[in-house]
Amino acid sequence: MILSSDLIRTLRERNARRVALQFPAGLKREAFRIASQLKKEGFEPLISGDPCYGACDLADDLLAEADVLVHFGHAPLEPSSQVLYEIVSRDFDLEVLTIALPLISETRIGLVTTVQHVHLLDRAVQWLSERGIQAVVMEGSPRTPNPGQVLGCSFEAARRTGAKEILFVGTGLFHPIGIQLATGARVISLDPIAREVQVIDASRMLRKRFALIESARGAGSMGILVSLKRGQQRWDLARRLASLTDRAVLVAMHEVTPEELLDLGMECYVNTACPRLAYDDQPRFPVPVLTPSEFEILCGVRSWNEYQVDEIP
Ligand code: SF4
Repeated sequence: MILSSDLIRTLRERNARRVALQFPAGLKREAFRIASQLKKEGFEPLISGDPCYGACDLADDLLAEADVLVHFGHAPLEPSSQVLYEIVSRDFDLEVLTIALPLISETRIGLVTTVQHVHLLDRAVQWLSERGIQAVVMEGSPRTPNPGQVLGCSFEAARRTGAKEILFVGTGLFHPIGIQLATGARVISLDPIAREVQVIDASRMLRKRFALIESARGAGSMGILVSLKRGQQRWDLARRLASLTDRAVLVAMHEVTPEELLDLGMECYVNTACPRLAYDDQPRFPVPVLTPSEFEILCGVRSWNEYQVDEIP
């Protein structure tokens, strides 16, 4: 990761001197190097040492001490004149798409990826077209400003392709499982770094989620978790969910951690903060943490076959 000359120029154009820096976990080890380079360029850098999960989680409280905040690794969720976003692009050799070809069964597919790879999508479309496959890349939601971009809380760019088959290029299983649940499409997941490809089957995860709903049925105390991070707050949804049963109350939190949930001592929680919490972190939580649609199933206002993966609009 390099400190770009464009960023230095932009900071100078803005007459910024004090510069706050925010990095997600995977890039935090770069913080000292980037800050030192900025210092040599005459700026006064200030690193946010708090956890950072996404652009939903801006360290904008540091703007009380800095002229500008530079947020690394994520695309903007909303425009802000005091925040600069530095997407950290990651290249891969397009020839890696070759290993996905035997799994592609349609001549028209949707193509999506995460923000690190969106700069390669046009070339990937061309590459696939030369092999007889029309790859459709669509705009997503305001949370995903780059065409073809998906986030753990927004699969809109996949949904809008309307394709029966979707190729996801990126790492991890959360995004492709989410895409399958959100679209109902056949999803092929290609990890371009590990050079692994697979057809996604979300049914195992769904079975686990249904078992979790059942295990929460007898809970006498339920907390509807509302995040105090600006880009994760869903107060209207949380209030509507809390109104579904007398057993549920609102709980506001900056950080949803197993320790805090244990201290609160409720028998079940419903997560309206980052959707990934309920899915990815369930093994760490002491009791069931349901998604909004799972809680609606529990309360009998949604049927089992209307299961919806959690997304933030
Ligand atoms: S809400 Fe979660 S998935 Fe969405 S941007 Fe924030 S951290 Fe990422």
